[in-house]
Order: sequence, then C-alpha cells, then structure tokens
Amino acid sequence: MLEDDASYCAAPAAADAALTALAQADPAAGPRADCVLCGEATEYPAGTPGSTLCPRCAWQQAQRGACSG
Ligand SMILES: [Zn+2]
Repeated sequence: MLEDDASYCAAPAAADAALTALAQADPAAGPRADCVLCGEATEYPAGTPGSTLCPRCAWQQAQRGACSG
C-alpha cells in the first residue's frame, strides 16, 4: 500500500516559509505574537504584521490551501 498524502498534494510554499521563519526566529528576541486561530504563542515576535499562525495552524492552513485550488 502506498498511501502518502504528500505525494499528490504538493508541498505548500507557505509551510516552507513558516518553517524558514521559525528557523530564523531568535528565541530570546522577546514576546511572541499569538496565533490568530488557536491563540497559542507563535515563534513570530510580537508586532509581526499580518496573521500570525503557530506552526501547527500554519501547516494546516497551507495544506488546506494547497488542496482547495
Ligand atoms: Zn494555532
């Protein structure tokens, strides 16, 4: 059985961007912005413009967008 969602649902660029942002985030930079969906703290610094999402929500949103056309 070869069932791999990622094989037919293209890896979303948004998720890559989120992961890149996480990798670049400085954990000692200060307070974190809250995820706009679940309210969890994100790795984005407070004051980040736009909708900040925690890694989990960012991934889910990206998956949804990639598959909904
Ligand atoms: Zn979230």
